[in-house]
Amino acid sequence: MTPDASLLLHWYDRHRRTLPWRAAPGQQADPYHVWLSEIMLQQTVVQTVIPYYERFLNRFPTVDALAEAPQDEVLQLWAGLGYYARARNLHACAQAVHRLGAFPRTVEDLQKLPGIGAYTSRAIAAIAFNSPTVPVDGNVERITARLNAVEDPLPTSRPLLARLASHLNDDPAAQARPSDFAQALFDLGASLCSPRSPSCLTCPWRECCLAKARNMAEALPARQKKKPRPIRYAILFRIVDSEGNVLLHSRPPEGLLGGTDELPGTPWSEERSTPSPAQLAETAFTQCAPIQAQWEDCGEVKHIFSHFTLLVRVYGCTLPERSNYPIDPAHGRFRPLKKAILSSVMKKCLLVGQHHKPVTG
Ligand code: SF4
Repeated sequence: MTPDASLLLHWYDRHRRTLPWRAAPGQQADPYHVWLSEIMLQQTVVQTVIPYYERFLNRFPTVDALAEAPQDEVLQLWAGLGYYARARNLHACAQAVHRLGAFPRTVEDLQKLPGIGAYTSRAIAAIAFNSPTVPVDGNVERITARLNAVEDPLPTSRPLLARLASHLNDDPAAQARPSDFAQALFDLGASLCSPRSPSCLTCPWRECCLAKARNMAEALPARQKKKPRPIRYAILFRIVDSEGNVLLHSRPPEGLLGGTDELPGTPWSEERSTPSPAQLAETAFTQCAPIQAQWEDCGEVKHIFSHFTLLVRVYGCTLPERSNYPIDPAHGRFRPLKKAILSSVMKKCLLVGQHHKPVTG
């Protein structure tokens, strides 16, 4: 199915979204802006990304400025966006582009850069360099499934949808405006062809859409049933000294939340183990608690990761002035929070049940 691109482009010219990374009509997009926004938008919605994007651009106005920044500063500005491997790759990619002198222009060369895969390379090539290619994200998959009434469920249907989507721009009108055509697809998916309640009556492609003709747009794309998300449990200790510094240690640079700071505590386990504050004072828990103290149960924090849900029981205490508890450096060191790299889950753990009792004994 090759829909009439001029209908979509005509709609886009009147209804395009204004986004901070988007060039004005008729202007060429800046590849740095396109790349930065596309990396931030992976797994994250536009409204969340906008303030992060603006802070990044303010602090790092060029890809060279980002390349030359210390990685900790990049991670700190990124903190809260999740998927920290993306932030490390972002920094590594900026350094690679800095060495090259400019962003490469082709899909193949873009994919050689850290953190740039099939979708992002096509998005940059199409939007910033007017390359006639179709970036296939969730929005474009959904539009393609509906236009062609593909009933096979995702993720099995993904290769078929990618193949069909690669023909969406076969029309010469799309080939004449590759940057606008790619962005028009994104805007159609984000507005009229939304996951629930698509607005088919006002859609520029309503006449050629098989899902609309068969009255099945809302049901597509079909999805295989997901297994229930497993739960993991942890206990973390929020220990604050008399100056308001918090005991924190850094997670290893690789892996989940890599390089971010966290409260000390137990590993994340599949078994629930929630001792009472009295039990925590017993020897069985001294291995996981950095000090022996009278703990206050601050409450439980729930955080949903893509592959599991984490339930964290937070115990807290505040150290009195001039206290001199021997704390194993493996548990971390006391640091001011404003210098920490805090993930969303750690921010929640720091906020839950804010006031805790001073340590006695
Ligand atoms: S007609 Fe409806 S289902 Fe088809 S592309 Fe347009 S909004 Fe999507």
